[in-house]
Amino acid sequence: MSCYLCQSNEYSKRAGTVRDNRDIDVLQCDECGLVYLSSTDHIKKAGLKLNWVKHIQRYSLANHLYWLAKGRPGGHEHFNFIDTVELNKQYESQLAALEITDTIIASIST
Ligand SMILES: [Zn+2]
Repeated sequence: MSCYLCQSNEYSKRAGTVRDNRDIDVLQCDECGLVYLSSTDHIKKAGLKLNWVKHIQRYSLANHLYWLAKGRPGGHEHFNFIDTVELNKQYESQLAALEITDTIIASIST
């Protein structure tokens, strides 16, 4: 199963289980660190309905460029000369279209 954020197929199995289905593994992406489940079929089987998903990008393009250049956080301070409201709005919009933002909020109901 590939990572929801970066689509990497490289992951590690983490300790822990899903209470309702012990066959589901808890995985962590080796590339971006996202923790996710090996299957979400149990949500559908529970009769739950996905109402909406909102993609939000909390970290700016400056932060990501600094990570690429230096391999550590702090880009919002060191590379802040490129941060503009318009640029980051467009950046978030593009990441949301690709469904690869750093934060996802979902509404699920019965
Ligand atoms: Zn990833």
